[in-house]
Amino acid sequence: MTVSLFMVPLLDLTAQYNSLKAELDQALLNVAASQICVLGPEVNALEAELAEYLGVRHAIGVSSGTDALIMAFMALGIGPSDEVIVPDFSFFATAGCVARMGATPVMVDVESRGFMMDPALLEQAITPRTKAIVPVHLFGQSANLDAIMAIANKHGIPVIEDAAQAIGTQTPSGARVGSVGLMGCFSFYPTKNLGAFGDAGLITTNDDALATTLKQIRNHGMEPRYYHKIIGGNFRLDALQAAVLRVKLKHLPTWHAARRKNAELYNALFTEAGLVQQSSNALLPDPGKIFLPEALYKDCAEDHHIVNQYTIRVAGRDGLRTHLQQHGIGTEVYYPVPFHKQECFAYLKTDHAAFPVTNALCESVLSVPIYPELTSSQIAEVVETVGSFLRTPASMHI
Ligand SMILES: *Cc1c(COP(=O)(O)O)cnc(C)c1O
Repeated sequence: MTVSLFMVPLLDLTAQYNSLKAELDQALLNVAASQICVLGPEVNALEAELAEYLGVRHAIGVSSGTDALIMAFMALGIGPSDEVIVPDFSFFATAGCVARMGATPVMVDVESRGFMMDPALLEQAITPRTKAIVPVHLFGQSANLDAIMAIANKHGIPVIEDAAQAIGTQTPSGARVGSVGLMGCFSFYPTKNLGAFGDAGLITTNDDALATTLKQIRNHGMEPRYYHKIIGGNFRLDALQAAVLRVKLKHLPTWHAARRKNAELYNALFTEAGLVQQSSNALLPDPGKIFLPEALYKDCAEDHHIVNQYTIRVAGRDGLRTHLQQHGIGTEVYYPVPFHKQECFAYLKTDHAAFPVTNALCESVLSVPIYPELTSSQIAEVVETVGSFLRTPASMHI
């Protein structure tokens, strides 16, 4: 038996597994009995179910979210001398995959509301070498796709949506993310809202010819067997992962709703406790206060936010994080270092001062537990523990 060190862990996958154990175990055993281990009927069925859920013509199961991004860039033929525009504030894969193609990741700062690609800065970053734009739907809500698509279309540049954290999220006009740009990339890493029992991902498109190319790329560019017109890779999805995902997909709307409910409760309790400073354009809240995460498109659609993370902002974040850890509450800093400051991107010689919002976010963001099975008393405990730290004068913090 393993005992969690945390009374309120950041994520509790065991709780989710236990709630679906019989169904999941049976699905795994069915694959074991079939011995169809890679692609095959489970993957086909998952693809059909996801295409329907996302409202997209083609959903192609792949090995990870990272591989989905690599495949999208391969399909567009992106390589040396090309530029791809990405937000400065995201998980590393968004920029890392661009560099792996030999192309240059061009980072743009994010908006302080919602922490996503700033359309105005995007437009300024476009050059004749720009070959793709990759907005990230961060923490479970939609990037400003209307503005981004308008700019991209004006310049004739394809948009690849990094929807790894946002499966099912609706844009302000109600479409699900990943169905709007030329391609959408999703991850089923266990910490995402829809998580496999290992690595898995998805790439989506409404373009029939592109879907054919992507399926070829997934399997070494092979079509027909042992004939290779193009070079692909091994980006195939395992049947075991597909079987797990099919069981979990049915519960996804309920989990999204539970996460939103948890976020509402945090909002109410943090506010009642007098800890909240209304978000302004300030980059940091005053000492002793927090900024709550903002839901940008609250009134647009039910799944305007799937709350993959609930991320507060606070000055002196590291002290608060230690305090929470000492009280058995798990947290994470998504993300501590902007792309432009990563050692591996030093060769880009980026001007650090050009990213004031991301720089401030990396110092102040803290994601607290938000998973669907979280109880209201656990949420109250998180709020109380945050309050006990913030009400103590900074000079008393040890
Ligand atoms: C998780 C994630 C990825 C990568 O997905 P993997 O399945 O872990 O490879 C890419 N982009 C973003 C924004 C992510 O959060």
